[in-house]
Amino acid sequence: MDTLTLLAAGAFASAASLPKLKQRLELSKAKHPSLRGHARMSRQFAKWIPFWEYDEERFFNSDGAPPEVVARRQDGFRKLEALYRERFPKTARFTAEAAEGISDLQFTGTYRVPFQYSRYVRERLRGGAFVSESSGVFVKDLDGNQLIDLTGAYGVNVFGYDFYKECVDQGIRQTHDLGPVLGPYHPLVAENVSRLKGISGMDEVSFHMSGTEAVMQAVRLARYHSGRQKLVRFCGAYHGWWDDVQPGVGNPHPVKDTYTLKDMAPDTLRVLRTRRDIACVLVNPLQALHPNMNAPGDSMLINSERWAHFDKQAYTEWLQELREVCSERGIALILDEVFLGFRLALGGAQEFFGVQADLVTYGKTLGGGLPVGAVCGKQRWMKRFREDRPADICFARGTFNSHPYVMGAMNAFLRRLETPEFREVYDGLEELWNVRIRRLNDRLRSGGLPVDVVNMLSVCTLRYLRPSRYNWMLQYYLRAQGVALSWVGTGRLIFSHNFTETEFDEVLERLVAAARLMEQDGWWESSQLDNKAIKRRVLREMLSARFLPASR
Ligand code: PMP
Repeated sequence: MDTLTLLAAGAFASAASLPKLKQRLELSKAKHPSLRGHARMSRQFAKWIPFWEYDEERFFNSDGAPPEVVARRQDGFRKLEALYRERFPKTARFTAEAAEGISDLQFTGTYRVPFQYSRYVRERLRGGAFVSESSGVFVKDLDGNQLIDLTGAYGVNVFGYDFYKECVDQGIRQTHDLGPVLGPYHPLVAENVSRLKGISGMDEVSFHMSGTEAVMQAVRLARYHSGRQKLVRFCGAYHGWWDDVQPGVGNPHPVKDTYTLKDMAPDTLRVLRTRRDIACVLVNPLQALHPNMNAPGDSMLINSERWAHFDKQAYTEWLQELREVCSERGIALILDEVFLGFRLALGGAQEFFGVQADLVTYGKTLGGGLPVGAVCGKQRWMKRFREDRPADICFARGTFNSHPYVMGAMNAFLRRLETPEFREVYDGLEELWNVRIRRLNDRLRSGGLPVDVVNMLSVCTLRYLRPSRYNWMLQYYLRAQGVALSWVGTGRLIFSHNFTETEFDEVLERLVAAARLMEQDGWWESSQLDNKAIKRRVLREMLSARFLPASR
């Protein structure tokens, strides 16, 4: 080849690759600038972070607080420790012994607070993780303490535990004659399908054993029917623990077919409009409470930067834009309602935000108290084989899918939901919770307490308004006030809808009391450090732990 031909070939190649380059740049622009937006980098960074922890002295003055404040903290902590020892002895002992054989408990127990403080708190403020009874809005621990339950059973508990006990009992009664026969269906399956079709506005339904599996199936179908591979999820969104929806920290396997893009951003719409490899967009509407942020766990509370703000109007517009672009481009819009389905409205997030998806996933509460996952979708997306290509199928099974007892409990759940009494529960729900949370925030503000609550109906997250390294301590003060939180702590307070005004006010009083004690004990009184300075301090500690381990 002569030089001229070579040059011409080179010019042709670069001209041909220009659009590709443009697409790559657009993709980069559509990623959230944080580590959360960069799965591979975040995994590498997570591996790099060294362990270090605070001894007794550093535990109380990790922000350089003056000795007077440190003394108050020590005193407060000692009192709290004594209270825990007196109030939760059996539950704590039982938990400590059982945890040796329960991997999950070891994990959740360790990651309740930032790791530098974890061991010290774990050994002294032992509340335990076992309960033996539930009733109304309360759970009872092994010491007989009645705790107001704000764990929400990971979101399952929308209508109160008694409601689910009844669903399970009724479900088992209805299906007991058949028992655990799998393969052939109990007739209730047909009724459940018909009710779900009505609620979701979809044509077909498939049942699975968990929310994670429902999401797996929805994505698989989207890939099958679109003939494309890439799945778009939004920065920070949780969709279960399957590899493809969890490309970042927590999953050791590299994921290559997932784009994690910015939520509520025109850059993302541009990518969806121009790329040809996207099979589906997966949306967890819970992110409307904190777009682009991870689920707010207390173990990440290194300062007071936790952010949340629910703007229904803006999120509705965003979903409408997504709907439009997905329709234009033949991309499946999957609304993952595993968490929020049946909480916001009878028709879930689709009804609440006025958007019709192509596929919707449900789980959690839909099982009426038993484990379940479900996909509802338009026929075009749900079909698992092709008439004209008999070997080209989209396989999905699952031994326990459509288990008769689960179908029975689901049936009891769905039937109740469609009674006039329950329809009334949904009427005015949004206003009811907004008014309650406003009342709570007014109290916190008038008490001069540096905390507030942001809500999306009955799902809440606490924000901290004064820079501090110790916000995570509030979960222990809350437990001392008789409030049960899940292991993520104050990042997710989940109310069930059976809370009466009086019970809600009881939570309000307990939250105010916990915050007041926390304040008196000096945990918020830190210092001259603002949030940025706290971050710099932690970074310095990290670097010295990494590079000067002996100096620790
Ligand atoms: N999707 C969403 C939106 C969820 O909140 C969850 C669970 N928290 C899942 C999927 C996974 O469901 P499961 O835990 O039942 O597998």
